[in-house]
Amino acid sequence: MSKLTPVRRQYLEVKRQFPDAIVFFRLGDFYETFDRDAEVAARELDLVLTRRQDAPMAGVPFHAVENYVAKLVSKGYHVAICEQLGNEAIRGLVPREVVRVVTPGTVVEPEMLSQKQNNYLAAVAADWEGKRLGLSYADVSTGEFATTQIAGPDALNQLLDELDRLRPAELVLPSASDEDPSWQHIRAAARSVTKLPDWRFEVGNARSALMRHFGVSMLAGYGCEGLPEAVRAAGAVLQYVQATHHGALPQLTGLATYHLESTMLLDAATRRNLELTESIRGGARHGSLLAVLDQTVTPMGGRLLNRWVKQPLLDLQALVDRQDQVEVFFKDGTLRAEVRAHLRLMPDLERLTNRVVVGAARPRDLVGIRAALESAAPLSVLLGDRSNGTEGPASRLPLPPEVPELLTMLRQAIADDPPSAMGKPGVIRTGYSAELDGIQSAARDAKSYIANLERQERERTGIKSLKVGFNQVFGYYLEVTRANQDLVPEHYIRKQTLVNAERYITPELKEYEALVLHADERQLEVEHRLFREVCDQVTAVAPWLLALAGSLAHLDVVSGLAEVAAQANYVRPELTDDDVLVIRGGRHPVVERLLVGERFVPNDVSLEDGARILIITGPNMSGKSVYLRQIALIVLMAQVGSMVPADSARIGLVDRIFTRVGAQDEVYAGQSTFMVEMVETANILHHATRRSLVVLDEIGRGTSTYDGLSIAWAVVEYLHNHPSLLCKTLFATHYHELTDLADLLPGVANLNVAVAEEGDRVAFLHQIIPGGANRSYGIHVGQLAGLPAAVTKRASELLRELELRAPQAVRRPGHLSTGQQMALFPAASPLLDELRDLDVMSLTPLDAISKLYEWKRRFVSD
Ligand code: ADP
Ligand code: MG
Repeated sequence: MSKLTPVRRQYLEVKRQFPDAIVFFRLGDFYETFDRDAEVAARELDLVLTRRQDAPMAGVPFHAVENYVAKLVSKGYHVAICEQLGNEAIRGLVPREVVRVVTPGTVVEPEMLSQKQNNYLAAVAADWEGKRLGLSYADVSTGEFATTQIAGPDALNQLLDELDRLRPAELVLPSASDEDPSWQHIRAAARSVTKLPDWRFEVGNARSALMRHFGVSMLAGYGCEGLPEAVRAAGAVLQYVQATHHGALPQLTGLATYHLESTMLLDAATRRNLELTESIRGGARHGSLLAVLDQTVTPMGGRLLNRWVKQPLLDLQALVDRQDQVEVFFKDGTLRAEVRAHLRLMPDLERLTNRVVVGAARPRDLVGIRAALESAAPLSVLLGDRSNGTEGPASRLPLPPEVPELLTMLRQAIADDPPSAMGKPGVIRTGYSAELDGIQSAARDAKSYIANLERQERERTGIKSLKVGFNQVFGYYLEVTRANQDLVPEHYIRKQTLVNAERYITPELKEYEALVLHADERQLEVEHRLFREVCDQVTAVAPWLLALAGSLAHLDVVSGLAEVAAQANYVRPELTDDDVLVIRGGRHPVVERLLVGERFVPNDVSLEDGARILIITGPNMSGKSVYLRQIALIVLMAQVGSMVPADSARIGLVDRIFTRVGAQDEVYAGQSTFMVEMVETANILHHATRRSLVVLDEIGRGTSTYDGLSIAWAVVEYLHNHPSLLCKTLFATHYHELTDLADLLPGVANLNVAVAEEGDRVAFLHQIIPGGANRSYGIHVGQLAGLPAAVTKRASELLRELELRAPQAVRRPGHLSTGQQMALFPAASPLLDELRDLDVMSLTPLDAISKLYEWKRRFVSD
């Protein structure tokens, strides 16, 4: 150690404290990385790797550091920024300190964030024995901070669904989670996982960290008193922000405790199947429900809508409030257009404000806040005028009385178009500070004095060839040729002798020179100080700026939903707590938009008065899947507060939407599609309630016909008969046999898709009509798809033959009377005996599946 240079020793000390981060060590105009860090940085950032005293080293210029940091962080690295504190060396060494650790979950720089998405840092705490999990998340770029506790046998799945909703950029887990297999699924649920020492998660420690941060003596006000796991997770988030981005703490001004019971639960599979925020094929937002609904014009509105769509509500009153607000803008198109025109000018006030609060603001961020306030004021007036003094919904934008004052200050202080970063002059507007103006005008005067000096001195001395020049060694000087030496005045001080000339200075010239040379530096200093002062004033009113940002986001979302509704001809659904689902003329919001040159055929659905299960049969490509999804989506949109694509709709709120989509639409690597299908079906049967909406699209496809049919049949019976289920179910199937269930079970009704037949040709009308389908038209689909005529003709022959030959019982089991049901299988068989003895109601779905597997093994020889 003693052989090392002082700087090297300083670096190693810093590195010892941040072993897991890449340390960016400020040395003059560069951030340098050393040793292993340098190798990583050189590789990931394409830097030149050099050596200094045998240590590998790679550096980036300080002014471009953000791009490099962004690149490393986006690849999952953590970067510790070690700054030089001042320029004064103490005992030969400039003091240095890590001011921030940049991690995927704690960034605030716009370059590293996506505008319309939140960037969450999340933490999970677990009490596996007590079956309790805590999940907390924060977005330090917006100040959102929330926590929840999930308990019960299904806690892990619900937690994973929440993580899927949030898609955290970084997940903080206790170190002990590393070896523990219970954590395996949680670990896999985030792009980037960071371990924090276990004691950070201890409830006492977490509690006191939260109480100290909020300056309170108990957490009851935040709703998490008595929820230990919620407290532990929130405490971990807070302590992690403290450790990595201390400056971001002030904006975590509150903690919201939420409960999964108050929102509609959507599991990951359902979110994907319904293509809520991403389309299955495209992956991007295009083709998703969000893409259709998102007519927001501000980034904060975009983020809010994203949250709304992923988390529909169960609270009738809250939904009616949202509907009322949307309706105001739906009915008043002029108001809507004007409001949206104002909002379009609105920058990201939420993130801008937070950047000021955390001390990361650049001059243009203040310009953004100024622009936001400039557009907010007329917007508020507009909404106030339209409300005609009544307290109509969405008709007011509350603007605190301090707005004009702050706006005036920002207008006076900050230049129209300041440089993008500090360190260049021109941030502060002329006229704001007498001190700054004084420096600038003195510098200007000095410059013009020097510029005039040549003419002035020529006149005064009569030396025609006198010149004013500048060099790095002497600064400004007066140059007189040798021939004119006798004319040089007394007070000139000789500085340098050249071959043909002498150079002089005067005390006055040096004074002006000092003014010119130091003016730039002083201007930067003063501007920096003034900028900080302005930022402090903004920080002082940050709470209401954020509240304003929240109102603007809300306004953007409701007026945006009204815009979609007006463009796409939606209606306001009637929401109720009753057990009903009636939609007239419903459409699929995404498919209707993507259809080209074809009209979307609207369809009805009616589930009330005991009707609970609809079985939809029909040929391939006739529109079954679209029909199922459109119903689920309309319900979901209604519970977001949106209007819906229909002529009318009456919707009883549902607590959960489940979907199970047949194997053919999905690609899973490594896992048996049938197994996936059965696991998801089991999940539905275990968790659906009478308030749930269940969408089953072609289940049982992934296995042999009899297995599949039997499972499908049993699932429908179970859904129909199980007293705790009684949920609304839509079941599309290619097993025509299932239509017989309608005769057997009172809550089951059949629907099918109308087909127009003309001779040999068929056309799918996409119209859903009562009754079961009796033909599958598979060969016609083949025809439509362009199979050669010889093939389809031969296929028709074979089909006719098969239909004649096949025993009736196999094709249509339900055509037999109830007692004979099981004639699907031979009359006397050990299998049938076992079936008879089986108590179906007491079987769990998984038991049922293993039973089926067992029978298949024992009774069916391949
Ligand atoms: P199925 O599930 O019966 O095989 P889909 O629901 O996938 O069929 O629909 C097949 C195609 O038919 C869709 O991609 C869409 O283009 C079209 N389609 C479905 N329903 C409608 C409708 N109501 N109006 C117009 N076109 C529709
Ligand atoms: Mg389908």
